[in-house]
Amino acid sequence: MSSWMELEQRYYVRAARRQPIVLVRGQGAQVWDEQGRRYLDFTAGWGVNNVGHCNPAVVQAVAQQAATLMQTSNQFYTVPQLQLAQLLVENSCLDRVFFCNSGAEANEGAVKLARKHGREHRDGAYEVITALNSFHGRTLGMVAATGQPHYQEQWLPLTPGFVHVPFDDVPALRAATTVKTCAVLLEPVQGEGGVIVPHTDYLRQVRAWCDQQGLLLILDEVQTGMGRLGALFGYEQFGVEPDIVTLAKALGGGAPIGAILAKERAAVFVPGDHGSTFGGNALTCAAAHAALQYLLDHRLPDNARRMGDRLYQGLEALRLEYEEIVEVRGLGLLLAVQFADAISADVVAACNEAGLLLNPVRPNAVRLMPPLTLTADEVDEGLRLFARGLAKALRERRT
Ligand code: PLP
Repeated sequence: MSSWMELEQRYYVRAARRQPIVLVRGQGAQVWDEQGRRYLDFTAGWGVNNVGHCNPAVVQAVAQQAATLMQTSNQFYTVPQLQLAQLLVENSCLDRVFFCNSGAEANEGAVKLARKHGREHRDGAYEVITALNSFHGRTLGMVAATGQPHYQEQWLPLTPGFVHVPFDDVPALRAATTVKTCAVLLEPVQGEGGVIVPHTDYLRQVRAWCDQQGLLLILDEVQTGMGRLGALFGYEQFGVEPDIVTLAKALGGGAPIGAILAKERAAVFVPGDHGSTFGGNALTCAAAHAALQYLLDHRLPDNARRMGDRLYQGLEALRLEYEEIVEVRGLGLLLAVQFADAISADVVAACNEAGLLLNPVRPNAVRLMPPLTLTADEVDEGLRLFARGLAKALRERRT
């Protein structure tokens, strides 16, 4: 065990299941550990490094902004915040932006917008319908919104005001809607839930139902946004315009920032309603502006589509070779490989050893979400390493 792992055991709260790897450096889709071993990173820092680790444009923007102005109070205007807001609005279907620090915090703010909208426009309605198997974050409010009992059981009582329905099931959503409902909150593709892609028409039908009932449609694009699914925002892939979109993860190119984007009609906050000390801080906004500009200039969503297809095809070929793989699914560069048995921990350990970092998203499924800067050579190398790791894990299970 390295001395860093010993320090972790001694001083850190035991909240994470870690792989026995100490990462010290990253560049593009690659990271290096303390012994100088190189890995291809198909976890991308939990779907964060869409523009690659230590993207030079982001590094430069951070260094420059850090030496200029990092933090002010929100009593004052700052330039990076407004430049980033403009760039997001000009490249989305939304009209206004509020910045915060994380995905959970963005979702909390979105639910506050929905409750206020419900109070003003739907007779005090406050309930938000979310999906079973969803994931919306770790705050107490978002634990209640998340439709997975194992994220909830230890933190009872849950914050009231959330109702769960099966994902990809419009009749269930209709049946759950009452006079108390103010909004529907969904991930376009469920990420943490195992990369579950709904039928192509699902979100369009949800949109139509929300319009008919006067509900807000909130899309949690914390994981699917910023090009991950092969379009800048996941909603574009499904042909809908949400009232509110939440972002975080890849927005900052590695810097911690979240955002709520809202249509004018849903942006109902007035001064004093909401705030955040660090939200919209000049440093993280400069990083996010550089990351978004890079994403747009280099057409990374298109690359995500092309490289996602290549990776998908390669994984499909492995599925035909290995009966243990029962399904390959996903969109763009958010993919999962489903196994017949609960072998993902073994597969991930063997892939790590082979030099490929992966996430065991379910006991029987691994998730692949590499940087969107991925090249064809890196896709092919990732496939070779995955095949090597899988073969080793299966061999070891048999012996
Ligand atoms: N929403 C979705 C869809 C996520 O995937 C996540 C994190 O994985 C979150 C919200 C929570 O984001 P954060 O960890 O930044 O609070």
